[in-house]
Amino acid sequence: MPRVLVSTLLVTVFLAPFANAGRISPIDMQPLIAPGYEAEDRDERGMWQLFDRLEEDIANSNLVVRDPELTAYVGGVMEQLLGEMAADFRVYIVRNPDFNASMAPNGMMLVHTGLLARIKNEAQLAAVLGHEAGHYFRRHSVQRWRSMKTKTAIMSVIALGAAAGSGASGNASNNWYDLANAINAGIMLSIFKYSRSHEQEADAYGLRLLAESGYAPHQAAAVWGQLISERKASAEARDKRYKDRSRSALSTHPPTESRMTDLRLSADDLVDTMLDGNGGSNGVGTWRSGIASIRSSLIEEQIKLNDSGASIHLINSLADGGWSSDLHYFLGEAYSLRGGEGDTELAAEAYASAVQYADPIPEAYRAHGYAEIKAGYKEDGYEALARYLELRPDAPDAAMTRFTIGQ
Ligand SMILES: [Zn+2]
Repeated sequence: MPRVLVSTLLVTVFLAPFANAGRISPIDMQPLIAPGYEAEDRDERGMWQLFDRLEEDIANSNLVVRDPELTAYVGGVMEQLLGEMAADFRVYIVRNPDFNASMAPNGMMLVHTGLLARIKNEAQLAAVLGHEAGHYFRRHSVQRWRSMKTKTAIMSVIALGAAAGSGASGNASNNWYDLANAINAGIMLSIFKYSRSHEQEADAYGLRLLAESGYAPHQAAAVWGQLISERKASAEARDKRYKDRSRSALSTHPPTESRMTDLRLSADDLVDTMLDGNGGSNGVGTWRSGIASIRSSLIEEQIKLNDSGASIHLINSLADGGWSSDLHYFLGEAYSLRGGEGDTELAAEAYASAVQYADPIPEAYRAHGYAEIKAGYKEDGYEALARYLELRPDAPDAAMTRFTIGQ
């Protein structure tokens, strides 16, 4: 799957190949845009119009997660982070399992579900939102746009996407989004490989916003740390060596050690200078309740990628904040998918743990039921399957489950 978003001017979190050529101080980062900013000259207005069209397509796409609780929650974090400036942004949660987020010049921000799946607290979400907002406030897109020699090629790609989107097919929005993704991955990387200083600015800007709004600035580096250890676990499970791709200008994913170090050092400074030595708030509880309505679907999306090293690492890492029914259940699913020696037993144990909770995820009863039957405990198995049917009478496999237990 292409990992770089739709548009050539969406600046991704990842385009920071080299980080340590002089750290930018967060204190120096001032906004270049005032609240309510509108594109000024013709050049910039043209660019905005392209993104307005793109946004219309994305807003109508069924790839956008439409969950009122989640939307309200993310909106609240934007307000805490940006104050009145938050009104200039629209944040869309896009279904995509990759860790990514991006910022368009017209105020459209995209956050992937794959990013939310890996975040552990509200300060980490704020770190990502703040980084993307940093690109906006520092006017990175328009600077790139003006320095670009190949605007025609980019405009034709966007136009092609829009044309495909207006086609007759039922889920045309999806098609064109994927198409634009595929086409842009290559073009974008070749054009924007020089974006290091912009990424450094966005990192610094994001940290400043965190500190100003009382969030823990160290959580920005923590996000990268989590990502690096997941990548290592994934590589290890596949017998591949993890590479810190900081030297590759074409890498779409450089969550590098050096970038993490810069973020950590700058956070140290901010804690001393702006927070009087107080580390700031993490917001673990508010994060968990904020994403409660979609958390299971976030984890499920990762499990389905069938990267067992990454999945198992991710679940264990999320369980640092406490185990829960869904985490046990999905751990079982990850073992089942891995299907190695002893994995059936590990999965059965995980499912058994999942149904011990007061309010288990219903699918855990199904998985536990079949595991029990397989292990020879037919009655217990049937009981669990009956419980599953009670909770999910309209499940796609309800008829088959009824047949199994002879109802
Ligand atoms: Zn960025």
